[in-house]
Amino acid sequence: MKFSDMIKNVAIYLRKSRGEEATVLEKHRRELVEFCKKHEWAYVEYAEVGTSDSIDERPQMLRLLRDVKNEDYDAVIVMDYDRTGRGSAGDRERIQEVFAMSQTLLITCDDNRVIDFTNDIDLAMAEFQGLFARQEYRTIKKRLSRGKRLGAKLGFWTNGIPPFPYQYNPETKKLKVREENLSIYRFMIESYLKGMPFHKISWELNRMKVPSPKGLFWQDNTVRRIIYDETHLGRIIYGKTEGSYSKKKKGKKFRNKPYEEWIIVENCHPAVKTIEEHEKIMSLAKRKKKIPKTGTSSVHPLSGLIKCAVCEHRMSFVRDNNGDLRIRSCRHTDPYGNICRNQGGDPDVIMQVISKELKEYEQKLLCNINSNNDREIAYLEEKILQVQKAVKKIQGKISRIYESYEDGIYTKEVFLRQREKAEKDLGALHSEISNLKMQQKNIESMDPQERLERVRRVLNHLDEELSTQQYNQLLNTVIDNVLWKREGNQIEVEINFLQDTNEATFHS
Ligand SMILES: [Zn+2]
Repeated sequence: MKFSDMIKNVAIYLRKSRGEEATVLEKHRRELVEFCKKHEWAYVEYAEVGTSDSIDERPQMLRLLRDVKNEDYDAVIVMDYDRTGRGSAGDRERIQEVFAMSQTLLITCDDNRVIDFTNDIDLAMAEFQGLFARQEYRTIKKRLSRGKRLGAKLGFWTNGIPPFPYQYNPETKKLKVREENLSIYRFMIESYLKGMPFHKISWELNRMKVPSPKGLFWQDNTVRRIIYDETHLGRIIYGKTEGSYSKKKKGKKFRNKPYEEWIIVENCHPAVKTIEEHEKIMSLAKRKKKIPKTGTSSVHPLSGLIKCAVCEHRMSFVRDNNGDLRIRSCRHTDPYGNICRNQGGDPDVIMQVISKELKEYEQKLLCNINSNNDREIAYLEEKILQVQKAVKKIQGKISRIYESYEDGIYTKEVFLRQREKAEKDLGALHSEISNLKMQQKNIESMDPQERLERVRRVLNHLDEELSTQQYNQLLNTVIDNVLWKREGNQIEVEINFLQDTNEATFHS
């Protein structure tokens, strides 16, 4: 085993000397990063802003010494020995002592020197790999393989499920790229950089039949998380938070730590995006405008009860120009990017249907109490089948009416009259079916008496002055959901009453 392979985790210390230009620091950073990458060392960066020689005026050196004392690293990498400081003899001694006590090596990049302060050894790297004294080699090897306290953790993946396209390698305890997913990840990054929004990327992935990390459809949030993730830079960030959520545990309370206290370990695993790409992604993210939410409340007695009859998603409310609440058109998008086009409309239509159906419902509940259930259910089933056949017949009739018009057999006037009549018949049949189904449900339910009371309570309250909230709660005690469909002037409303009376309670 090569000496450099025994080193796992290092710190990079960067500092420019007085009189040097700022570009020097950047040049050194590049060289040190290259050096670490060449040896496959995970590294944490400490970059000094000032040029002071005195340790106490160098905050990053103080931080580094604290962490080295903590035995966080196998070695510290500097450009040349002078970078640690040409300060007083006292300062130099202090540095040497901390390195010796923690058994941390100092490695200089410009001449490949490895300095071991415990033995005053100062030898070229080449010698370690070749003719180095056997005894010394063994001592250092033993020490390094024992691992450092925190160093044993640095560079290892301990953050749970690895982000796409990585997978966990239990042998190295690190992440590796799942090769078959790399091109998909690159597609995501490149599409975003070309200006494609997250949701469109998710549609594309679903169209490509790529399973999401959870094996389901991709969603914009998943795509966003992956594209923003810094893990893909080869980086692991430790110490973003500290303490515990648990109230039972004593000790530190949970808090998010400030950025300066994070430990960013680079070169932990192969990077799949460049730092330039990441910076561009972040600047694109900042440019995204946030749409402010309107202050006016949009609560309606039917809030949360209306479902789109086309895609079965909940429909919400929106205020029109007059300030009235309307059902918002359904714009739900399926995972392939197809948008539901069910139109919104005036919720008063539903309120009228509800008040009418509630009265009928009350009557039916009354009738059904004490009725012979089994025979009744069989009868209703038969009846529903008959009506469904009649529906099919009328649907056939309607298409023939259209054909006759298109073939020129009907004049426009005849066509309109015929169509109106047929559609009226069809509507009647549909409402008959829903009535029959409702009767069936009533019979099948457990406690018609209890539900009858609820329905009556709603009916009694309907004309009273109630707050929207109370109204909404009241309707929730009897209605499960309302299916809504609208195409131009054609509106279909289906009220589904609650079957389980225990689900909702009304607090007035
Ligand atoms: Zn819909």
